[in-house]
Amino acid sequence: METIEAIRAILEKGNVVAMTGAGISQESGIPTFRGKGGIWERYNPAIYANVAGLFGVFLTKPYRMRDFILEFYETIHNAKPNKAHYILAEMEKRGILNSIITQNVDNLHQEAGSKNVIELHGNMLRFRCTKCMKENKFDEEGLEEFIYRLKRASRLQLIRLIFPKCDCGGRYRPDVVLFGESLPQDEFGRAYVEVGNANSLLLIGTSGIVYPAATLPFYAKEHGAIIIEINPSPTALSHIGDYTILEKASIALPKIFEFLTPPI
Ligand code: NAD
Ligand code: ZN
Repeated sequence: METIEAIRAILEKGNVVAMTGAGISQESGIPTFRGKGGIWERYNPAIYANVAGLFGVFLTKPYRMRDFILEFYETIHNAKPNKAHYILAEMEKRGILNSIITQNVDNLHQEAGSKNVIELHGNMLRFRCTKCMKENKFDEEGLEEFIYRLKRASRLQLIRLIFPKCDCGGRYRPDVVLFGESLPQDEFGRAYVEVGNANSLLLIGTSGIVYPAATLPFYAKEHGAIIIEINPSPTALSHIGDYTILEKASIALPKIFEFLTPPI
């Protein structure tokens, strides 16, 4: 049997979980961090990817910090889900996909209509109070206003915008996991249950080098899941893949599920 047909037959049995990384959103206009045009070409990750480094930049070069944050939010604001996001949402609607475990922070799975999305690294559109844990999420208008104000903020206003005050007296921050921070334990726990029970795991656009997220495919394999990888380049996880499609997500997924492909 052709590989594509074999994969389709496995996925149609249902009980599928997808694990996605930056690669699935690359064709939506969000560059992978490490790839060409990625943010780490312009900002040193040793400084900009952790709390201490970011805080240091904020104190010494607040507008450089603002530009870094602005670039993130503008990129996400301009991005729209692509075929791969929509096909995963359609698979869920048809009852063959149980959940998506994503390392992305861009909200594009939800925008495409996916409901059961486990976010291992948070979501840029959500802010969380560091004291009482209350959450706020931007809608389209809220995001636009945030970007507008960010562009015009004075140094003091920048702090109030990025770390707004909560009613409890604490401060909100963007709800994303930076280097050195631990993953949200509830989400990570749910992800383990999902992959442990899955019949197959679709690995899409993840390099498999960011830990502890990268332990999940190994756990799935140990628990009997068939591993199907979609990525234009081989990855650190390819050796545990039962099937590998060396193609972009928005090309490979429509090949497997022509009939689920949305007209975009
Ligand atoms: P990564 O940057 O380490 O790897 C991206 C992978 O995607 C690579 O293996 C690459 O070959 C593959 N890829 C590139 N284009 C693709 C395409 N069109 N279709 C399928 N695959 C493609 O990404 P990662 O493993 O997700 O780890 C990066 C970390 O950075 C994650 O923690 C994530 O939170 C964060 N990140 C998120 C976003 C986002 O939210 N969109 C973007 C960049 C980085
Ligand atoms: Zn609070």
